[in-house]
Amino acid sequence: MYKRKLKVKRIFISLSLLLIVVLIGIILYLYFNVEKTSAYNMNIKKIIDSTKDEVVSLNKVRIYGTHLNINGTLENKKVFLDNIDDAKLIFKNINSNKDIEIDIEYDVNNKGNLTFYTSDKINTGINLDSLNTGNYIILLKLLEKNYNENKDDTNYYKIINEDNQKEFTYYTMTKNNKNNKIVINNYKNEIEKKSYKYMKIDIESTKLPDDVYDIVIDPGHGGSDGGAVVSNYKEKDITLDYGLLLKDKIEELGFKVKLTRDGSNEDDIGVHSMYDVGGRALIPNDVKAKYAFSIHLNSAEYNINNGGVEIYVPNNTDITLAKTLARNIVNEANTTYSPSMTYKIEDGIYLRTFTYSEISKAKEEANKNGYEPYNITTDTTYYFFIRETGGLSTNAYVDGRNTSYGKNKYYNSAMGVESYLVELGFMVSNKDLNNILNNKDGYVKGFTKTLDEYFNNVKEKY
Ligand SMILES: [Zn+2]
Repeated sequence: MYKRKLKVKRIFISLSLLLIVVLIGIILYLYFNVEKTSAYNMNIKKIIDSTKDEVVSLNKVRIYGTHLNINGTLENKKVFLDNIDDAKLIFKNINSNKDIEIDIEYDVNNKGNLTFYTSDKINTGINLDSLNTGNYIILLKLLEKNYNENKDDTNYYKIINEDNQKEFTYYTMTKNNKNNKIVINNYKNEIEKKSYKYMKIDIESTKLPDDVYDIVIDPGHGGSDGGAVVSNYKEKDITLDYGLLLKDKIEELGFKVKLTRDGSNEDDIGVHSMYDVGGRALIPNDVKAKYAFSIHLNSAEYNINNGGVEIYVPNNTDITLAKTLARNIVNEANTTYSPSMTYKIEDGIYLRTFTYSEISKAKEEANKNGYEPYNITTDTTYYFFIRETGGLSTNAYVDGRNTSYGKNKYYNSAMGVESYLVELGFMVSNKDLNNILNNKDGYVKGFTKTLDEYFNNVKEKY
């Protein structure tokens, strides 16, 4: 009886001690965390307090492929172009002095409003994949002419995103098994009873979520849509073979690849399901891919002797990636650039936008079916796979008003996938068809060589 009491007492003391240790741990944890947060907040306060009163508003914030593009305006500032020596965007590091400086294009109008943009192309600008990890506040920095370094009269302005989409979550392309997660957002913060508003970019190293991919490969056509047919060959079968092979070989480079179809459920995907759940127009955005390639084989009314490769690009883009891909396919697959001149902008590179007659045809179609016509212009990219996966950057427009096509839920997304349509060659050219059927490794090498060159040698460094 006595022994038992002693045992109970001992257990009680042990438990009490354990509780005290846990409590001390919690108190220490809270103390240091609050301390950390407040030091962090004090740094934010210091940065914002050093900025001018005027606020830069961003009227366009877009992510396309791996690049961030922003357009902004600084209003009612009595600075004129003559007085400005330079303007830059600054990602001001909250925790250290490792800031990021970004070159911008700027102009000042006669009202004294300064406008700026990071790039006039949708797929260049700020390369998100080359940014160092850290927590940054985004600022505009103006250097006035004849500024006095000793007086430190560099002018910083805080920035607020006024565009429709305020928050972005982006994952960098996989490199050496590593990824960064980037969150861009407006923040409001109460520090010492004063309200602070600012735009922030947080970059941290992370493991890529299971449902996020780097690249999407879309084997053209499928299901009831066979694509072009020559002899016993169907385009949809050949593009599927290529899709499976490309996935394997690109994954060997370390990238994570998603196929829009893999042949396991052939009835699921066809022309009419492209905007439905699991449809090829949605998959690239569903998996937050940065790049997508739709694989096709060309056709023509008549047989031709010499075919060759055609790569269709989005409008308003830098075509370095597409040119590299076209050149590498030509070299590695021992083929040629397509002889076709329609829509051609350079050897192997094609840009198809709507023509006036296609626009009026689309209007007629809308009137006939009783819906408001789409806002299509001659700048609008024609091929849906390129246009609809790019969201606002590529003027995607399938918003559901045409009920026979459904709705692209990403049509007005400010974050889009950089997409290309690749015609490997002509099925109506015996030479091309033989090469495409028997030299798959050559064509695939053209892709892998390009992706390796392009992404494992990131040019911009901050
Ligand atoms: Zn096709």
